[in-house]
Amino acid sequence: REFGEVSLKDIDNVAKSSFPLCMRHLFDKLREDHHLKHWGRMQLGLFLKVLLNSIGLFMEFIWNISKLPHPLTLAFTCYLSNPLMQQPMELGVGLKLDDALAFWKAEFSQKVGAERFDKEYAYSIRHNYGKEGKRVDYTPYSCQKIISLTPSVGDHHGCPYRHFSEENLRAALCKMGVNSGGVEDVMDKVRHKHYQLACTLTFEAIHGCPNDAGINHPNQYFSDSQKILKS
Ligand code: SF4
Repeated sequence: REFGEVSLKDIDNVAKSSFPLCMRHLFDKLREDHHLKHWGRMQLGLFLKVLLNSIGLFMEFIWNISKLPHPLTLAFTCYLSNPLMQQPMELGVGLKLDDALAFWKAEFSQKVGAERFDKEYAYSIRHNYGKEGKRVDYTPYSCQKIISLTPSVGDHHGCPYRHFSEENLRAALCKMGVNSGGVEDVMDKVRHKHYQLACTLTFEAIHGCPNDAGINHPNQYFSDSQKILKS
């Protein structure tokens, strides 16, 4: 397969090897419960949709700084407020729409039945792909956005480094293959609220090599991981 393309038969393997903890948690919960609430479906669904290349990440960075109240950046705001400018540049398609529908349907059908999935859930997946409603090709969430979310009881979205209890986070890190010294380093960053640095240390512990740029987007985590695993 092309770099950046994920097919249904590969998805469990790549989830294990290359998903950051936020997406791994959602993925595992979906497989376990055959259901995710709205924000979980959004966070995971948009992540699965596309892989960002560096231009896409740069655009996201510009979009984020354009929100700052600086006269020079305000000019960018008007320009970038066009929905077209908020789209990531695609390195390649992640999960194609048909595959995404099949993926979600296979899980949700076990909980709510195929008919209810088609009626109540398929629309929002097509919507994420820009095939319904305003037809905006929605951008996957950045770390900054995911960290700022506030999951309620029963929700599984958000950033585990910020939203998990210490006990759950330690267990999740062990499950990902981080050794005990690495877990302590990660927990130290979490205590200081450096969630993206904690994620970067996790990446480095699992892949056995540095990530000098640091993690600022789940799709960047994924593509950096795939580059290392395929080299
Ligand atoms: Fe996901 Fe970013 Fe949190 Fe890592 S730091 S778990 S990529 S939201």
